[in-house]
Parts: sequence; structure tokens; C-alpha cells
Amino acid sequence: MSLLDQVGAIARERGAGKVTRIELRVGPLSGVEADLLRNAYPLAAAGTVAEDAELVIEDVTVVVRCSQCNAESDAKVNHLLCASCGDFRTTVISGDELILQSLELDELPPAA
Ligand SMILES: [Zn+2]
Repeated sequence: MSLLDQVGAIARERGAGKVTRIELRVGPLSGVEADLLRNAYPLAAAGTVAEDAELVIEDVTVVVRCSQCNAESDAKVNHLLCASCGDFRTTVISGDELILQSLELDELPPAA
């Protein structure tokens, strides 16, 4: 799970012994299921600096920009049409991200 590698690297960089809270932004087009992530997390994090961290997942809506009328509109995952003119030639501008939004660290160094 590369996310935890990232979290661990940040904690090490800041000399923190523990991660207390992880906030993620997960778009429905990211290929990551928020529920699966929540379920898999405790097991994946066991034994790492993030094992006691609270995992907060913020859902992201899908937004597309239309190449024809240039409107930006919310879209459904399997239906990326322009809400304004109905054209299918759209570009996803939000909804495919998996972003580590913020991290709360316990700044105390690990107890030997
Ligand atoms: Zn349009």
C-alpha cells in the first residue's frame, strides 16, 4: 500500500513517532473504493507509525469540462456527459484523484 509508505516517509521526515489522523480525498474515478480502503486500512497499517491513526475519507464529486460549450458540470461515474449541452466530449477535471489531504502527527519521537 503505497499510501502508507508515503505517510511513513512524511512522519520520518518530521521526526514524528506516530500518526494520529490521515485525511484523504478519494474520487470515484480513482479506481479506489473508499469502503474497501476503510476496511483494509487497519490491517495494512498494523505495525506502522500509522497504526492508531484515524482515517478520514472525503468523497469527491465527478466534474467534467465540456470541449464543445466549455461548461463545467457534475457528472455520474458511468455517464460523463456535459450537463449543459449533453455532449460526450468532456474532460474529467475532478473525480479521479487520490490525494493525501492532511496528516496529523504526534511529534514525540518513538520511545526507543
Ligand atoms: Zn457542453
